[in-house]
Amino acid sequence: MKVALRTLLDRSVKKMGKGINPVVKASALVMVERAYNEGITVQISEGYRSLEEQAALYGQGRVYSYNGKNYSNLAKPIVTNAKPGQSYHNFGLAIDFFIVSEDGKRAIWTVNAKWQRVAAIGKDLGFEWGGDWSSFKDYPHLEMTGGLSYTQLQAGKKPHLKLEKSNISKTGKGDRLIIFIQKTLNGRYKAAIEGDGVYGPKTRSALIKGLQTELNKQFNKKLVVDGKWGPKTKNAIVTIKKGASCNITWILQAALYMKGYDPGPLDGEFGKNTETALFKYQRASRISADKLAGKETWNELFDRESGR
Ligand SMILES: [Zn+2]
Repeated sequence: MKVALRTLLDRSVKKMGKGINPVVKASALVMVERAYNEGITVQISEGYRSLEEQAALYGQGRVYSYNGKNYSNLAKPIVTNAKPGQSYHNFGLAIDFFIVSEDGKRAIWTVNAKWQRVAAIGKDLGFEWGGDWSSFKDYPHLEMTGGLSYTQLQAGKKPHLKLEKSNISKTGKGDRLIIFIQKTLNGRYKAAIEGDGVYGPKTRSALIKGLQTELNKQFNKKLVVDGKWGPKTKNAIVTIKKGASCNITWILQAALYMKGYDPGPLDGEFGKNTETALFKYQRASRISADKLAGKETWNELFDRESGR
């Protein structure tokens, strides 16, 4: 029996991990779907890779230690020349794919016409393909650099990626949870944004509008609900923490999800999952990791147009 598209998408989402850039993730899923519609069954095998995982990979076939830990694994062949921080995987900007058999049960690693076609779809969606590299060809590899070098990314620079509207498929669209968030924003705050499953400026602005509305309603602030991240809104921000149960928590959860952090179910309940997601986000953003959603966190979440 032919494997269902849903199965390929679900497996791919799992493999890409939580640290994957939302645009890279959405693009990868569109690629899987487009290929499927052309009769090619493909799956993503890898996405975000931590620095430690990169060290373990680099240690294959080498004597290597990183941060005082030994990662040498001479029993295996060399698979990469990228040290920790030298792969776009480490910043959630790269994915690897492979072809699977029609029933979805076997991986097929032959770089044939189908493989080339998937790479072409990927490139059409804005990826650069490792198979085009002249020195070290990496056929499963696709990346979106946003024009940033490893050094810039290591210094905390965020790429500004966007998923072109024309590239969003009609059936699967972008990320399903983002579509759900967009629909909720429309219903709850009359946001009138398109449910395209992609976190763009309009969705960001709708989240800010929601936050302004809730600050007015729950804390008697007198903000103009304009969806702009201005000084008045910044000053009106309240701090919320574990135990909070309100629409502001829901906005926090949605905003964290947009940044690639999983707050658990979007239920407006500030529980353990939301706290963990917040903590991870704070650490990754290099702001105070105090598990409190206060001025610093909200500002980090909303002061830029896009990117993680
Ligand atoms: Zn790769």
